[in-house]
Amino acid sequence: MAAYVLALANQKGGVAKTTSAITLAAAFAEKDLRVLLVDLDAQACLTFSMGVDPDAVLRSVYDVLVGTCPATDAIVAGEDGVDVMPAVLDLAAAESVLLPRADRFEALTTALAPLRDRYDVIVLDCSPSLGVLTLAALTAADGLVIPMPAEMLGHRGVGQLLDTVSDLQRTHNPRLRIVGILPTLYDGRSNHARAVLADVGERYAVPVLPPIPRSVRFAEAPALGRTVLTTASRSKGAAAYREVAAVVIEREGLPRRR
Ligand code: ADP
Ligand code: MG
Repeated sequence: MAAYVLALANQKGGVAKTTSAITLAAAFAEKDLRVLLVDLDAQACLTFSMGVDPDAVLRSVYDVLVGTCPATDAIVAGEDGVDVMPAVLDLAAAESVLLPRADRFEALTTALAPLRDRYDVIVLDCSPSLGVLTLAALTAADGLVIPMPAEMLGHRGVGQLLDTVSDLQRTHNPRLRIVGILPTLYDGRSNHARAVLADVGERYAVPVLPPIPRSVRFAEAPALGRTVLTTASRSKGAAAYREVAAVVIEREGLPRRR
């Protein structure tokens, strides 16, 4: 079976896209799925957080996207049982290289094709924009998770992203499904956060995934190059991501190995 491609996107920064990408990937790996994480942000936070030194990377997702290196040559083993296609700063140039190309939306789909029978799930961590790379990610994806801090759920950004998704479903990727909004940095003691969460599914007519609690554990993990699944395996945050992974596996029909 070909890999299921899951994109994490939100044009805002600091909403826990990268944290969610790496932790969900590790949760899939815990279930014995073969997982590849692709870093689509030139800031390379994902690459660093998975214990890969961006300065030591020889081939990155940029080389794969511009066609100078086959995808299989740009994969390194990350921590927590997950493979990584790293990013380095030159990815910032990918937008301008891809922009004039007629196949810019399909560039990532094409690049990942040779990998689709090697993995069960490929997780795409997008940059905080709706630029070419994010649109290419949404074209390659089967499913989209939208990480969003609970207090931001009422903002207009969600509507803008959902509009972009509907356009893309019409023009480039009818396969794309919104798996759900993922409420992040959630403070269950806040009445406001609880009220916003209760109303969001109805407001946007999109599924809402189990919320991820705010916890200092998440700030500690990246410097260790591990996810909270190993640095704080029994924490509430780890449990929440395991629950989200289980929902995605169930709802999207991913293989069940464990
Ligand atoms: P994005 O990729 O959307 O820019 P990040 O995943 O890099 O967001 O997260 C932004 C910051 O929030 C990071 O410092 C990260 O450690 C922190 N963070 C993410 N999730 C949580 C959480 N559940 N609780 C506390 N801090 C978090
Ligand atoms: Mg990020």
